[in-house]
Amino acid sequence: MARTIEIEDMITVGTLAEKLMLPATRLIGELLKNGVMVTINERIDFDTAQIIVEELGLDVELAKKAQAEPAARVRKQGHSEKAVPRPPVVAVMGHVDHGKTSLLDAIRSAHVAKGEAGGITQHISAYQIIHNKRPITFLDTPGHEAFAAIREHGAHLTDIAIIVVAADDGIKPQTLEAIRFARKAGVKMVVALNKIDKEGADANRVKQQLSEHELLPEEWGGDTVIVEVSAKTKQGIDNLLDMILLVTDVEDFRAEVEGPARGLIIESHLEQGKGPTAHALIEEGTLKAGDFIVAGTTYAKIRTLVASDGSTLKQATPSTPVAITGFKALPEFGDEFNVVNNEKIARQQAEQNTALKQGTSSRSDMSSRELLRIINRSNQIQELNIIVRADVQGSLTSVIDSVKALDTEEVAVHIVSSGVGAITENDIHRAVTSNAIIYGFNVEAPTNIKRLASRDKVMIRLYKVIYELIDDVREGLGKLLSPEIVETETGRLVVKAIFKTTKTEVICGGEVTKGKLVVPAFARVVRDKEQLAEVEVTNLKRGPQDAKEVLEGEMCGVSLATATRLEIQEGDRIEFFTRQTHTRTL
Ligand code: GDP
Repeated sequence: MARTIEIEDMITVGTLAEKLMLPATRLIGELLKNGVMVTINERIDFDTAQIIVEELGLDVELAKKAQAEPAARVRKQGHSEKAVPRPPVVAVMGHVDHGKTSLLDAIRSAHVAKGEAGGITQHISAYQIIHNKRPITFLDTPGHEAFAAIREHGAHLTDIAIIVVAADDGIKPQTLEAIRFARKAGVKMVVALNKIDKEGADANRVKQQLSEHELLPEEWGGDTVIVEVSAKTKQGIDNLLDMILLVTDVEDFRAEVEGPARGLIIESHLEQGKGPTAHALIEEGTLKAGDFIVAGTTYAKIRTLVASDGSTLKQATPSTPVAITGFKALPEFGDEFNVVNNEKIARQQAEQNTALKQGTSSRSDMSSRELLRIINRSNQIQELNIIVRADVQGSLTSVIDSVKALDTEEVAVHIVSSGVGAITENDIHRAVTSNAIIYGFNVEAPTNIKRLASRDKVMIRLYKVIYELIDDVREGLGKLLSPEIVETETGRLVVKAIFKTTKTEVICGGEVTKGKLVVPAFARVVRDKEQLAEVEVTNLKRGPQDAKEVLEGEMCGVSLATATRLEIQEGDRIEFFTRQTHTRTL
């Protein structure tokens, strides 16, 4: 029985050698043979380790060690007695065009939807409203499936999901995706039956559809809260907010307010005159202006703390979205933040996180996929090189995650570089050296950059709608796919007589036992079950006459072009087939 060794996602070469009871030099040598150059202290990922262990032929199986859950994910469990009720964090989800933006807009009574490109919400942010004197926090979650990445990050932040379904359209794929997401994340659902004002609205039909997906309306004896609303006429909005507060009371969301704050970065961008600015949602504790916080690889002494209504705060408590300035660099979307005692600790922690990250990314550059590619030279992955620029970190993450999701075993997107902000001269240089296409999402290419690009023949593609960008990348990737070769068997012949055999040709005769024979064609010569050769059929004869096709039951003569001398015998089978190439798409 193979010995099982548990390792983590990343492991240093030295530790792996120790676990395998091998000299480290042997392991390094094997990695080197496979094109991976590492030292004893460098880390390789699990898949690479697994491939190498297989290559070494050791009687060992690797298993992934269960990872400890990140601290923030345990938020919903156990609190001390000091925990106090906190506002709910609500996300609005559902199919495109069902009215998510309009609904959020109606709720906040501002008019964000109007100026938006493509009508979808492009990046995550959050704001708080007051209803019946109680605060409710809304995540401005983007609505299209391309933003699944953001939703995954935001999953443990969300308490309640409003599933928006247009009453005139019913349940659609992204509605189901939203329902699945909410179920998976253990998030409470409230269904908003939107566009109830429209002529074609049919609330009953949608309720029926919801029941089919195990969301039985309360009025039909189930426990799904369904509220009929119209983002247009504002009908039902108050009722929807009442229901959210009701669910909040039933669920009794709580958090600790005492102690240092902890939470998640939900957006970051450079703001003119203010420097790196991050939007964050507090999960536990109280965040104060002047606090030192660490978020991923950067840290801040909080200079200003601003609420979603623009007011400056001295401190903020759980479920409150805030804009924070004072960061040394842009934190990343999805980074967890925590308060530390002083600047020294903040700097040290940020440096530690940076080192950890570099360790991971330098080795993930030589990822298992690259390694596989080296091992399977015959099965090379074709790569599409791209450079990505986006307006804010949140959308950059979404674009990168979405295009990476297009990877297949044959073709993959290789992101040469990426960044927040307008396209730069440096991007053009990189694009030239790596033969990359530059994709810009919600960013501009200044005129001098455009000129440079056209001089250097660099392609810049600018998009304002994420799925159009993704479709374009998909199309580019599709072009890298080698065409598919489709073989179609047309007919079979059983050999009855051999007329001539040379090094390059066989002429024989026989009976068509299946289908019909046509020229030109290819054929496989089969004896018993074994294939002897693949040949080209150059001629067909019915009697003394050349024929274009010969049908089942008829006798004929065939000329075959062979690569080497082929000793055909009576009783051999010749299977005729045609070969066509089809271009493929992803
Ligand atoms: P999203 O893609 O889910 O964010 O959908 P939008 O909020 O952009 O809405 C899509 C379209 O439906 C827009 O043209 C809206 O004006 C329209 N719409 C949204 N809510 C309503 C509603 O309650 N009634 C009517 N009649 N139209 C609506």
